[in-house]
Amino acid sequence: MSEIEKLKKKVATACRMLFVAGLVDYSGHISVRIPETDRFLINPHPISRASVTSGDILISDLSGALMEGKWKLPSELPMHTRTYRVRQDIQSIAHLHNRMVVVLSMADWPLVPASNTGAFFGPGPIPVYQDPALIHTDEQGDAVARTLGSGEAAILRGHGSIVGGRSIEWTFTACVDLEESAARLYYASVLGPVRHYTDDEVIRVAEGRRQMAVVQKVWDHYVARAELAGLMEGL
Ligand SMILES: [Zn+2]
Repeated sequence: MSEIEKLKKKVATACRMLFVAGLVDYSGHISVRIPETDRFLINPHPISRASVTSGDILISDLSGALMEGKWKLPSELPMHTRTYRVRQDIQSIAHLHNRMVVVLSMADWPLVPASNTGAFFGPGPIPVYQDPALIHTDEQGDAVARTLGSGEAAILRGHGSIVGGRSIEWTFTACVDLEESAARLYYASVLGPVRHYTDDEVIRVAEGRRQMAVVQKVWDHYVARAELAGLMEGL
């Protein structure tokens, strides 16, 4: 199997696992750069995230032109193209419609580290892009990239989030931790005032959590979960 074919399979696998994790519904996407090119792989607009295959995965360039594939590119592609242009360190980007992150944004509740999953993103609240409109233009994509700044996640108010990382496995794990962080924060808030982590606590927890072995462990766990759910056949 060629390197491109292996990457296509990873994108399709990640897509199905994001569905298993409840982080995408009928929409949402994940992309990964093709190393040493200005192109990236991404799942297509019309195909269910629960059944996408390697053969469905598309290749886009950084202007948003379809370079290979038989389907329409996702309508919110500018989130990927405009972020890749300004963040050379990011190799993979996901756009989620993640429920608990959206719920907190609806109440203007800052997503701050208050549990170990929240520590993944470092000290401080996750930045919020305030316009709930879908990201269809380069100007909107630039604005989302500016909100992301030098971080690995940004919340799109009432809509979802964008997550970027150094590999597709890294981005997938960050997606899982972002949503779990929001869910834990919400549940704790029902009980009373939430005790946030100090910056020192965040940094010390992140040291353990942001290791490649942990990232791979999360990826492997979700592969197993998707297999159990019967969602890994025909990739
Ligand atoms: Zn969206």
